[in-house]
Amino acid sequence: MKTSIIGYPRVGALRELKFASEKYFKGGISLDELDQIGADLRASHWKIQQENEIDYIPSNDFSFYDGLLDTAYLFNIVPDRYQALALNPFETYFAMARGYQGEQGDVKALAMKKWFNTNYHYMVPEIGDSTNIQLKGTKLFDEFLEAKLLNIPTKPVITGAFTLLKLAKYTGTKRVDDYILETADAYAAVLGKLNELGAAWVQLDEPILVTDLTPEDLVLFEKLYARILSAKGNVKVLVQTYFGDVRDGYQALQALPFDGIGIDFVEGKQSLELVRNHGFADDKVLFAGLINGKNIWKNNYKNTLAVIDELSGAAKQVVLSSSCSLLHVPYSLEHEAKLPEEVKRHFAFAEEKLREFAVLKAIASHSDTYSSPLYLRNEQLFSRARFTNNKAVQARAEALTEADFTRLPAFSEREAIQKSKFNLQPLPTTTIGSFPQTAEVRANRFSFKKGAITEEQYKQFNFNKIAECIVLQEEIGLDVLVHGEYERNDMVEYFGECLDGFIFTENAWVQSYGTRCVKPPIVWGDISRSKPMTVEYSAYAKGLTSKPVKGMLTGPVTILNWSFPREDISLKDSALQIALAIRDEVLDLEANRIEIIQIDEAALREKLPLRKSDWQNEYLSWAIPAFRLVHSGVLADTQIHTHMCYSQFSDIIRDIDAMDADVITFEASRSDLAIIDAINECGFQTEVGPGVYDIHSPRIPSVEEIKQGLYRMLDKIDPAKLWVNPDCGLKTRGDAETWTSLRHLVQAAKEVRATL
Ligand code: GLN
Ligand code: ZN
Repeated sequence: MKTSIIGYPRVGALRELKFASEKYFKGGISLDELDQIGADLRASHWKIQQENEIDYIPSNDFSFYDGLLDTAYLFNIVPDRYQALALNPFETYFAMARGYQGEQGDVKALAMKKWFNTNYHYMVPEIGDSTNIQLKGTKLFDEFLEAKLLNIPTKPVITGAFTLLKLAKYTGTKRVDDYILETADAYAAVLGKLNELGAAWVQLDEPILVTDLTPEDLVLFEKLYARILSAKGNVKVLVQTYFGDVRDGYQALQALPFDGIGIDFVEGKQSLELVRNHGFADDKVLFAGLINGKNIWKNNYKNTLAVIDELSGAAKQVVLSSSCSLLHVPYSLEHEAKLPEEVKRHFAFAEEKLREFAVLKAIASHSDTYSSPLYLRNEQLFSRARFTNNKAVQARAEALTEADFTRLPAFSEREAIQKSKFNLQPLPTTTIGSFPQTAEVRANRFSFKKGAITEEQYKQFNFNKIAECIVLQEEIGLDVLVHGEYERNDMVEYFGECLDGFIFTENAWVQSYGTRCVKPPIVWGDISRSKPMTVEYSAYAKGLTSKPVKGMLTGPVTILNWSFPREDISLKDSALQIALAIRDEVLDLEANRIEIIQIDEAALREKLPLRKSDWQNEYLSWAIPAFRLVHSGVLADTQIHTHMCYSQFSDIIRDIDAMDADVITFEASRSDLAIIDAINECGFQTEVGPGVYDIHSPRIPSVEEIKQGLYRMLDKIDPAKLWVNPDCGLKTRGDAETWTSLRHLVQAAKEVRATL
């Protein structure tokens, strides 16, 4: 049995590439030095794969910023505004990635979008009428040759033509169909060049094949590949899919003259069915994605070998592959000194996954497979109860009934009760929760973490900040105040640390975009709340003012979506456990006289399945109830807020209303306010606070522009339901712009209110 890796993480085990790139951006090192660091990383990644006897080692999976951007650049898809800067090629590339401001001009970066259902973000290629798609770059070939020089034969990787054209944004009058020929020819030129260089295989990544495809999409796919594959020569072409199954394109893939098809058997729910029902062409190699490229748990050898066994009956040749690029997992457990062995032995980060490939290969090639010690040890790991199970948590989740998901009385009755209780003026003003995380706020947390100050000192600082923040909010005249979130650095870590069942790592970074990485916590066991998490800070803030203070929590779906989830229980079950823990906090806040509680679900939309037909069954059917479970126990006169970062939720607007919060705030300032129409049309019951200004930039909005935005909202939204707030938390902003902007916001609300 042979083995294949779709892609390897590139940022470096200790984020070397991140630090080097950032130095380069600041002028601290030269281009050559940065290039050398890239080359060293590539060499070490190839070598470790070679040591683990990987048969298909990828090259060109390395990138200084983003793989799709590299592909666009390779094919000369460089918008005019970047070419006009007349920078050197490397600088042009970075101008597309990060924008450019300097002697040569001032241009913004390309747009960035989430890469399918991951937390990785890609740069959106822009194709305009003057774009001439052709093979221009050499990175793909350079890196192939670089590996060859090290005596490591590799399989060069690029994004495939279909995914490239489908993800690109068309800025001119021409559309996808106008680019079929030149795109196919550009890819054909790649194959020609790889033939010359003696590459055995090339991998064309086509993840878009796992999304919903129309008949027109399939025609496009077939047209592109009929032409590309006619130029194959001696190079074998692997079309690689991941993040789901290829139910719409399976037959088309089989019919075209690909030499290998990569299919994801981890996330691809129907993958096995497809092979069973339709068979697998004799002339193709099946690259079976069975080692999870997205999660950090050890592979279950027994299950994997069983699938390989079955697949071997259908396909002539089966190669064991990762389910997707290993880009989405951290490097190595070697850098986790604090995790106990008992815990670590359940995990496999990228390097440990390579080991799994080597072991599975060895096991599969021995006739006594099932009695080899390596196999038995793995089997044991999965046969024992592997978590610190918490019977009480499980029993509590099992005992849930419909009533636990239903808040009473119904919304309209609550709305009336709350209006008379809070007696807020129309168009009440508030913020989303966080206030600037200034250098001193971060320094305080850092000093505490490294033990330089006591817990008491640490907290006292936060209390002082809260007091300051309350005074300022009162002074500028906001109606509903917040404590400012000085105790936390992000939306998940703080809560994870206060909950039993989460594990934190020291170095398990994964790339999020460009040079940015995140370090998701791991859901290790059953989740419960060991102690109150926010009560002390919220109650303190409440004691300082006669105005309502919003308690501030992160919701269960967001906490789960931004963690590495368990694989031994369903996402639904994990979400319900987290929901119960947050519910305890909500009730605790309520008992401490916090009468308004915001439960953020910033990442709710993020993990919507890639196929629309799966949205309800696989996701919304438990995600929305999990949120309801968090707040269904509060009194009628406790007001529940929620917040979401994305405005593109017109398509799930009813589900969002069904979360049954009393108020929802969300980003709207940067969008075309389409969401307002959707709200209007569907008879949305929840009160709404579409953000009136963009907090992602230091720009201060004028009173006039905020007023105009409010008037536009009032065209569609009942004034009795409209709140006035910025579009997200203020933690990334500075003090200066924050307070002025909020003054403008309060003033605008006041002026508009006077005209109601
Ligand atoms: N309450 C959080 C804050 O204000 C919400 C952050 C977010 O939506 N990303 O920072
Ligand atoms: Zn937000």
